[in-house]
Amino acid sequence: MTIKAINPATGETFASYQEMTEDGLREAISRAHNAFLDWRRTGFSSRAALMHQAAEVLRKNAGKYADLMAREMGKPIRDGVAEVQKCAAACGYYADNTEQFLATEQIKTEARKSHVVFQPLGVVLAVMPWNFPFWQVFRFAAPGLMAGNGAVMKHSSNVPGCALAIESVFQDAGFPKGLFRTLMISSAQVDAVLENPLVRAATLTGSGPAGRAVAGKAASLLKKTVLELGGSDPYLVLEDADLELAAAVCARGRLINAGQSCIAAKRFIVVDKVHDRFVELFVKRMAAAKMGDPLKQDTEIGPLARHDLRDALHRQVESSIAKGARCVLGGEIPRGPGSYYPPTVLTGVTKGMPAYSEELFGPVASVIRVGNEDAAIAAANDSIFGLGGGVITGDIARGERVAAEIESGNVFVNDNVRSDPRLPFGGVKQSGFGRELSHYGIKEFVNIKTVVVG
Ligand code: NAP
Repeated sequence: MTIKAINPATGETFASYQEMTEDGLREAISRAHNAFLDWRRTGFSSRAALMHQAAEVLRKNAGKYADLMAREMGKPIRDGVAEVQKCAAACGYYADNTEQFLATEQIKTEARKSHVVFQPLGVVLAVMPWNFPFWQVFRFAAPGLMAGNGAVMKHSSNVPGCALAIESVFQDAGFPKGLFRTLMISSAQVDAVLENPLVRAATLTGSGPAGRAVAGKAASLLKKTVLELGGSDPYLVLEDADLELAAAVCARGRLINAGQSCIAAKRFIVVDKVHDRFVELFVKRMAAAKMGDPLKQDTEIGPLARHDLRDALHRQVESSIAKGARCVLGGEIPRGPGSYYPPTVLTGVTKGMPAYSEELFGPVASVIRVGNEDAAIAAANDSIFGLGGGVITGDIARGERVAAEIESGNVFVNDNVRSDPRLPFGGVKQSGFGRELSHYGIKEFVNIKTVVVG
């Protein structure tokens, strides 16, 4: 079996890779485990030196990696460079802070001594999505390796070149051979990885169905998982909002990565009094985004990552329109090659439409009109998801009060939701469980061990 790299801007297959055999898979896991046995005993400063080196490799090759992302999944080149730089910054952050995050804690008890130590678990399986092919991996791998773990990664089938490039970042930085390993496998082979006793835990970033499959299997084997799943982030636009700011924040939030982000703004819940003016300003911003060849420097929106994803998105749009939504921008598949989809705005979105209840993974905005703040909060929480959310208001105290009412893992007031190595990231409800990033994230894959000396 082969894994193919297909350029979504042209439809052309430009590379193919051989899938690993069962023996190759076992061998890779066993090497990662052997590398881990030595790695777990290294000090933080030697791990940090290598992690700083990984940051250097990333910075040096940012253009090359961005080109690969553009060709494999359509990310505009300048966004790809920014993504690689964010990975380098995260490597630096964990290199500098892990020793403090995982420092032994002394606890006073009746015993002579009692303390808590944070020890690595072993080899962790990472199942990763294509949408931020570098960042999703590094936000797990930088803390994971700094904590002393090994890792094997199954990346999305449409970004095999990125998957191998990430493995080579760690190799070129001088990490022990095999400690971080890319597994060229299909999703059907993931169960075999989980069943391997040397694999101690798993993290998955992706859709609900993939999360259910991996977490279900891991649970049957009593292995821990962290799940970062889908979202349908609500942005509440209240009547006291600066509407120019609201339109800018909302359009930026909706169009990030051509709308293919778990924390993209997806539902715009707008109070009646400012609805029409907001829609007017928002549509203007959405229409101004430049769609085109991801390899061109000035492109803001590339094609969607795969043809089938574009077609599934269009079906959600058509079904919502058939149920009464109004399409005030976009909504039509452009002629020509490539899986492009234009910025699209649907208004009059109500319960019962896909645009209300499902995740729209592309540049399609669902505008929901509500009477007041209470109705806005109720609509925001009327979702199976709980990843992020935004509140746009002229009153910061009100923004914080409303933020407290939203059922999600992150809320940003007057700004876009984004991940930051210093802050915990994750969701509630069907957006997953566990956290990545910050000192919370790094402790997901350690043994929090109590040691008492009587
Ligand atoms: P996906 O289809 O779920 O794929 C994610 C990963 O899971 C891929 O490596 C995929 O491999 C693998 N996979 C799929 N089904 C599997 C199964 N039954 N068993 C084992 N592995 C399986 O998701 P995607 O299309 O790449 O990404 C889009 C979704 O991810 C959206 O819902 C988005 O919101 C979510 N996401 C969440 C976050 C977050 O931090 N919360 C971040 C980014 C994306 P194959 O490619 O080989 O199928």
